[in-house]
Amino acid sequence: MTEPLVLDMLVDGRKVEARSGERFDVLNPATGEDYATVPKADAEDVDVAVEAARRAFEGSWRDVSATDRGAVLGRLARLLEARADEFARAETAHNGKTLPEAEFDVHETIACLDYYAGAANKHMGEQIPGPTNFLLYTRREPVGVCGLIVPWNFPLAIAVWKLGPALAAGCAVVLKPASDTPVTALMLAHLAEEAGIPPGVVNCVTGPGSTVGRRLVTHPDVDKVSITGETVTGKDVMREAAETLKRVTLELGGKSPALVFADADLDQAVDATMFQIYANAGQVCDARSRIFVQERVYDDFLRRFVERTARLKVGDPLDPESHIGAITSARQLERIEHYVELGQKEGARLVVGGERVEASAGYFYRPTAFADVDNSMRVAREEIFGPVACIGRFGDYDDGIAKANDTPYGLAATVWTSDLSTAHRAANDIRAGGVWINTSEFLFNESPFGGMKASGYGRELGVHGLDGYTEVKNVGVSLGGEMPTFALE
Ligand code: NAD
Repeated sequence: MTEPLVLDMLVDGRKVEARSGERFDVLNPATGEDYATVPKADAEDVDVAVEAARRAFEGSWRDVSATDRGAVLGRLARLLEARADEFARAETAHNGKTLPEAEFDVHETIACLDYYAGAANKHMGEQIPGPTNFLLYTRREPVGVCGLIVPWNFPLAIAVWKLGPALAAGCAVVLKPASDTPVTALMLAHLAEEAGIPPGVVNCVTGPGSTVGRRLVTHPDVDKVSITGETVTGKDVMREAAETLKRVTLELGGKSPALVFADADLDQAVDATMFQIYANAGQVCDARSRIFVQERVYDDFLRRFVERTARLKVGDPLDPESHIGAITSARQLERIEHYVELGQKEGARLVVGGERVEASAGYFYRPTAFADVDNSMRVAREEIFGPVACIGRFGDYDDGIAKANDTPYGLAATVWTSDLSTAHRAANDIRAGGVWINTSEFLFNESPFGGMKASGYGRELGVHGLDGYTEVKNVGVSLGGEMPTFALE
């Protein structure tokens, strides 16, 4: 067993311990061994980080030109690129995802930084065609100090979805990773220093959501919080942020549907749908966890889906043969087991998987599918966040759309059809933040990502992601002529 990594937080450009001196351990979920130890901060540590961020924001960062902000983001991308392998291995070690999945995430994270490096000086205000004797224009100004709260399923990528646009817009940040997976966000924060980002612009504080996260949300000097997490957490954050009228972006849970029409390319639909529910061991907010297949091809789809799912290899994330790595925590593994038991009690038909991989010290679960699921079942309504597919049937187009929309969530959907009209009608009729046609893709850095309904609001990625870290200021300049005044003598 190798010695655990010892990491410090980053506050005001310095590596620091928590003021209490406390630390907590981070596990490798594939081995059950300690992988790292990080400081356990509390609300006072957050206060110090927020003060540093405020000083940096007011002091110099907001006056750095957009071009120069883009340049430092570009330098950060190059530094990450030079250490991509180390970051991918760290991501695998504390999250449990397979190494190729982690390598893909790091690659996409570099691309995300590059995207915002390039976008920083292209995010423009507008000149507004008002009265002819007025120059009306808008400015995009940074929101200020931002709390960035990250979940454990994509610890590095989601940190950068927030950090990239926040820095490009000119904000200063306090980053708070999830307690199960704080390592790569801390490593990235330390790289930000190396990239030449001034002290205090990027701070990273580790500790529980109930104290550290909560303090970021309630702190009167934090202007905005962007959080990715469970819907129940998002509700708490919204409630608590109301007190200081903080801006909030909420990227929350999902129960996203895939609709497979009878005219779809079934081979592609099966493989892509398996990928969309089992990648990252199903711990994906927009996993296509509800799969509705049109009656005529239901049995055929199900047979192929089950046969191919049974061939997926679950195991050591560093073994190139593994398709699916570890579940990130014991807590999450128990949640998956609970839902698989519940599905069986509710009358869903377990057709493949449904058990842990017992031969290992880590947390592994076989890819699992339920057939004959309908939306009244809790396994179809609640987010399981694991490798569990719920497969059901639909009749005609309207029935399919109704079933896809019958959910409290609205994050994403995929439609499988060879008919162009069906595809575009469905894109219009499904209430979700993103609809994908005939593909296993989840997202691109260039286009917006986010939810409707209980999946939250606000958008990340693309130019829309940048919008979320700016305030729009209107400026009106008189070019002469009469102006409204009181009619005094
Ligand atoms: P979580 O809600 O438990 O925690 C998310 C983050 O919020 C963590 O850093 C946590 O410490 C912090 N936190 C918890 N309580 C808090 C509070 N009261 N105030 C402030 N911060 C608090 O979520 P998780 O288990 O880490 O992540 C999984 C969830 O995230 C799933 O529901 C998944 O769907 C969702 N998710 C959504 C997206 C998206 O873009 N919509 C992406 C990934 C994950």
